[in-house]
Amino acid sequence: MRVSEQGYGNASGRDEDPVVVVGAGPVGLAAAAELLQRGIEPLVLERGPQAGAAVAEWGHVRLFSRWSEVVAPAARRLLEARGWADPDADAYPTDSCPADSRPTWAYPTAAQWSDGYLRPLAAALGDRVRVDAEVTGVARRGRDRVVDAGRESEPLTVHVRTPHGEERITARAVIDASGTWHTPNPLGGDGLPAAGERNAADRITHHLPDLSDPELRRRYAGRHVVVAGSGHSALTALIGFDELAAERPDTRITWLLRRGRLGDTFGGGAADQLPARGALGDRARAAVEAGRIAVETGFRTDVVERDDHGRLSLATVDGRRVSDVDEVVALTGFRPDLSWLSEVRLELDTTLQAPVRLAPLIDPNVHSCGTVYPHGAAELAHPEPGVYLAGMKSYGRAPTFLAMTGYEQVRSIAAELAGDTESARRVELTLPETGVCAGSGLADLQADGHAGEQPDEAAGGCCEAPAETTETAVPARAAR
Ligand SMILES: Cc1cc2nc3c(=O)[nH]c(=O)nc-3n(C[C@H](O)[C@H](O)[C@H](O)COP(=O)(O)OP(=O)(O)OC[C@H]3O[C@@H](n4cnc5c(N)ncnc54)[C@H](O)[C@@H]3O)c2cc1C
Repeated sequence: MRVSEQGYGNASGRDEDPVVVVGAGPVGLAAAAELLQRGIEPLVLERGPQAGAAVAEWGHVRLFSRWSEVVAPAARRLLEARGWADPDADAYPTDSCPADSRPTWAYPTAAQWSDGYLRPLAAALGDRVRVDAEVTGVARRGRDRVVDAGRESEPLTVHVRTPHGEERITARAVIDASGTWHTPNPLGGDGLPAAGERNAADRITHHLPDLSDPELRRRYAGRHVVVAGSGHSALTALIGFDELAAERPDTRITWLLRRGRLGDTFGGGAADQLPARGALGDRARAAVEAGRIAVETGFRTDVVERDDHGRLSLATVDGRRVSDVDEVVALTGFRPDLSWLSEVRLELDTTLQAPVRLAPLIDPNVHSCGTVYPHGAAELAHPEPGVYLAGMKSYGRAPTFLAMTGYEQVRSIAAELAGDTESARRVELTLPETGVCAGSGLADLQADGHAGEQPDEAAGGCCEAPAETTETAVPARAAR
């Protein structure tokens, strides 16, 4: 039995059992590739009908990351050994186009990410990836979370729901890379649905609409659309609706932010080391400054009412109101679904619901530039040996997660599970800066100086790690 430095480790894992990876998203598949290359057999369980099922649901969204930033190193090795045609190489056969001046189309859409990378990766992993297999629980075999006795000698069991019935799978370890896509935050300012929010569900969406879809375009054209949230998804939505309004000037856009002022909502612009992320903020800022988007800051929705004409009215506790609303696009971030992890002993931060050693690095209430650095097994360990949260889910309610962060997490976890502690502790990634490095974190201050809105997913306002975070940090692309 090997126990890690924190006293946590793969205490009861048996080598003959697979490491179960929950979710065949970018991070789960990267975990499987890392494990395989360490000689450990992975079993990826995906609830959707295909690998990358969640990513496919926002397929129309263009990433702010380039191909090279969303392909995991271990996955690349696996794919290249099978003759995979790197989509990035297809797009840029010469060095004549410097990375930073590449045009918008150089960034894949989520659908292209899925088709050009995630699905081939899943195919390369073969029957180690099972779809239509939803994990409904993880526990120590025969022991609920309270029981100490015999706990160390029992393996983990994973409860799975499939179209053919229920299954129990014995696991050497479990890497939960199930993301947060299916659990968006409600519109309500207190984190619970606003009064009337559920009744207005037919007028409220929590996902970025695909405005290239004629039917959806018709739904929003000429309407009063409210966009709530301050993350990248909200900025993307605002730009999309602004373009729609150029075509249909009777379209009205109102932007609701919980934070007290716009502050660094638009991100770091040209200073953002991910240029597409910076450009997004610049375009949204231009639309706001031109007066095409009405902005309501400090707006914490408490009530959603429907008038006699079926239109909505959104009100705050202090009586502010936005009326005559036809459609609400609530992009107020995501939260982790921890319900099926109730029987394992997790150590989660009370605020962020992220692993306790990771949380201080990503807490938007307190952190500023230089405090977020790439991390791995040490920061992601729990009192329950062999259980890790990775990927988007590991950030709990914190924003700014990048796929490359998740790839480094699972590289480190796979090394830890293989007993290579030295590699597990080594940092093999440098994260790009957002270009917003002054003052507080993303939880912007209100006019009265109090912390404002809990920022949304992928908000990217502040802050990723500095370009070189530790002496051992090397650029991601040169890591291997
Ligand atoms: C709109 C948007 C744009 C983004 N743009 C970028 C970008 O440009 N660059 C970047 O680096 N990052 C970006 N991100 C952030 C992040 O990299 C992605 O969200 C990424 O998909 C996270 O990968 P993941 O594997 O952690 O989770 P997911 O992609 O969500 O994958 C999790 C998988 O687990 C499955 N699953 C869930 N529950 C279960 C269960 N109980 N049992 C079995 N399977 C389950 C899901 O169906 C899903 O397929 C963006 C995120 C969003 C939402």
